[in-house]
Amino acid sequence: MIVMLRIVKVSVKLKCEPIMTDRYSRQILFSEIGEAGQKKLKNSFIVIIGCGALGTIMATSLVRAGVGKVRIIDRDFIEYHNLQRQVLFNEDDIKSELPKAIAAERHLRKVNSSIDIEGIVADVNITNIERFISGADIILDGLDNFETRFLINDVALKHNIPWIYGGAIASTGMTMVILPHKTACLYCLIGGLPAKGMVETCDTVGVISPAPFIIGSLQTAEALKILIGAHNINRDLITVDAWKGTFDRFEIKPVRNCPACHGEYKFLEGKFEIKVSSLCGQNAVQILNPGQGQISFKELEKRLKPLGKVSFNEFMLHFSVEKYEMVIFPDGRAIVKNINDVSLARGLYSKYIGM
Ligand SMILES: [Zn+2]
Repeated sequence: MIVMLRIVKVSVKLKCEPIMTDRYSRQILFSEIGEAGQKKLKNSFIVIIGCGALGTIMATSLVRAGVGKVRIIDRDFIEYHNLQRQVLFNEDDIKSELPKAIAAERHLRKVNSSIDIEGIVADVNITNIERFISGADIILDGLDNFETRFLINDVALKHNIPWIYGGAIASTGMTMVILPHKTACLYCLIGGLPAKGMVETCDTVGVISPAPFIIGSLQTAEALKILIGAHNINRDLITVDAWKGTFDRFEIKPVRNCPACHGEYKFLEGKFEIKVSSLCGQNAVQILNPGQGQISFKELEKRLKPLGKVSFNEFMLHFSVEKYEMVIFPDGRAIVKNINDVSLARGLYSKYIGM
């Protein structure tokens, strides 16, 4: 009788316990994490903004790693050209016309049902970002534009939340950890929005999957370290060229008169906000870009020529792509024709002109 009871007890134990010990066993064996680190991951809350190639890599890795709460925010739907590198999505998601945030949430729930996963379909901007990041232990950058990255930089510094910048294009990428008031910030690194019309994007020069896979993985490793309270956080800017197989690192010092590091949150206050408005009765949307300098039409023409019809004179550049027509002015202002959806127009500007 006693023997029987013992057997029952053991079998119950085996049924209940595999969740922590088996699922994460290889990660717990890694001495830098261990049982204590695993518990910290379970009690952590991360926010991933942007769910393209970088976002899907970080989301799948950190959900598998057992981070307790994961919020993923993205404004886009999935298209066929995303499948080459955005590892969470498949052809069924496209047929079902699912937004990226929702498809990511559904797939990740099947990967790890023991954690809290929330997909939010939204354009992150000054009106909602503080609500989205409230209570987060870390913010992860999976974005494709600098305007929103600077917004993350401002809220992260304001609310003292670490964030990890990441970007990948063609065969290259870069990443840097930003620990508020301890390391250099994004403003220290690049000093405000890049020059207008000079930001290359995946839609103009392409991208191969190894570049975002490496950068997303480096971001994931630093996120794990920050969440478990490791002391060896990497503070350098790391750059990678996956095609050449090269890595470089650069020490970035905080800039003494950086406004963001001194509590002046220009992006969060809307001083550099890209203003997008529908032009009444014209089936067109106007975009005002506050980035630095004037656009070089010659450079822009070179980049856009393989993608559509381009022509320019000294006053404006015309670019036709898909069913849309864009007119771009030297100060970065643009009018996108045959469109009423301001969010879509903003997406086209971000893709082809860069922001
Ligand atoms: Zn700074």
